[in-house]
Amino acid sequence: MTVLVKPKPIEGHKVRAFQMLIDGKWVDSAEGRTIERVAPGHGVVVSRYQAGTKADAEKAIAAARRAFDEGSWPRMTASQRSLVLLRAADIIAERADELAYLDAIESGKPISQAKGELGGAADIWRYAAALARDLHGESYNTLGDGTLGVVLREAIGVVSIITPWNFPFLIVSQKLPFALAAGCTTVVKPSELTSASTLLLGEILEAAGVPAGVVNIITGTGPEVGAPMTTHPDVDMVSFTGSTGVGRLTMANAAQTLKKVSLELGGKNPQIVFPDANLDEFIDAAVFGAYFNAGECCNAGSRLILHRDIADEVTRRIAELSAKVKVGDPLDPETQVGAIITPQHLEKIAGYVSAASRDGAAVAHGGTALDLGMGQFMAPTILSSVRPDMAVAREEVFGPVLSVLTFETTEEAIRIANAIDYGLSAGVWSRGFDTCLTIGRRVRAGTIWMNTFMDGAPELPFGGYRQSGLGRELGRHSVEDYTETKTLNMHMGPRTGWWMPR
Ligand code: NAD
Repeated sequence: MTVLVKPKPIEGHKVRAFQMLIDGKWVDSAEGRTIERVAPGHGVVVSRYQAGTKADAEKAIAAARRAFDEGSWPRMTASQRSLVLLRAADIIAERADELAYLDAIESGKPISQAKGELGGAADIWRYAAALARDLHGESYNTLGDGTLGVVLREAIGVVSIITPWNFPFLIVSQKLPFALAAGCTTVVKPSELTSASTLLLGEILEAAGVPAGVVNIITGTGPEVGAPMTTHPDVDMVSFTGSTGVGRLTMANAAQTLKKVSLELGGKNPQIVFPDANLDEFIDAAVFGAYFNAGECCNAGSRLILHRDIADEVTRRIAELSAKVKVGDPLDPETQVGAIITPQHLEKIAGYVSAASRDGAAVAHGGTALDLGMGQFMAPTILSSVRPDMAVAREEVFGPVLSVLTFETTEEAIRIANAIDYGLSAGVWSRGFDTCLTIGRRVRAGTIWMNTFMDGAPELPFGGYRQSGLGRELGRHSVEDYTETKTLNMHMGPRTGWWMPR
């Protein structure tokens, strides 16, 4: 299938041109090349960024290194850093509409959803500000009269932060405020498809009082500017969110200098549904889980594992509700499902649907691209009679495509849920306490939702088992992730060691 993108100008929009933030200055890339972003919902150019190079990445890393080794940020009190983060949160909230608009036009997500993400992001900055003041180590006064042990938490140093396009502002907000709370300095690279809101964050952080060099924001492609951020010896840690393939490469690159890595990667998340579940509640959650962010979501509930006794009825009801989902202009406040990120990605999604049909799956709803006279869109799609061995049941489609599988026993449901490479999240639906807890304990995933789906809060850690990632974000340990542990082993009184007389 070749996707034809239909352009539709955005009323009142002027193409925005951005520079990069290096060492407190807004600069062009070393080579002066730029990248144009075409809005996926409108098919017209909306932004122009600097196409950064390795030389730009090196300048940004050098600035972050100087700011860490010599600057004030790691040395100020946690209370001072916390105040800066709180000011940043306030400005994010003040500029939320502008940021949400940029995320919506560049990623194709619905504007109402983008506004919700901005509210969530401001809340995360406030949570990080609170945690900043509670970062502490341990002391051991129990090691005998001659010893006092103190365990320090020190900022790890320079952190490279690399983010994807699907939640541009939210994901940088799951990393950067915690790194800053710990006293780290950073180089941030947003996706080359959705850099605008992260660049605006640079302005916000300057206004909030973050000193020059502490947050450097560079734009460009992964191989050109992302790769040096993962190999450079002056970087101490890489925090990456993106595809499992690039995550694997990032880990291999970072291994050359044994950097710490934190990886948030793909998912193929099951929802397991038992006959005693509240099906009205579940059907709403199934549609939300599958089509939220057009399914371009690491947490998408893209695999339904339904008990055989309810499978036909539930599939029919999900198809009925899917027909009511409003797909359309990302800037229309009524839109629930927006555009697909690129024409190439839409082709990939449609390719999964065709391959599944050839392998014996049935299209219970949708199945094709949608011609809305603008941008590129995919119909909400349900595939039934999917077998666990099919690609569509194992691989991350990253589109609004729901695969329906069935089970008879709890053991079989757990086996199907666990029989893939990913382990990011899962849902279980049952009124039975034992059933929910059995699934909760035995499905190997970082988050298990019980009688709900895709809820979250900054207090709750998030991340994946197996090839869904390494480490966790959010939660009360999230600032500690950006620290090193140092032991001060202190001796008092006469030495009573190996060759000294006792
Ligand atoms: P991607 O892996 O293609 O790109 C992610 C980032 O990595 C981008 O900024 C990109 O420029 C950069 N990059 C690409 N090549 C690189 C290289 N060689 N070295 C360093 N950086 C490089 O992912 P994407 O398509 O932007 O995002 C979609 C993926 O992200 C999906 O797989 C999704 O599941 C995953 N994701 C995971 C989570 C999570 O929290 N687990 C959240 C959102 C998205």
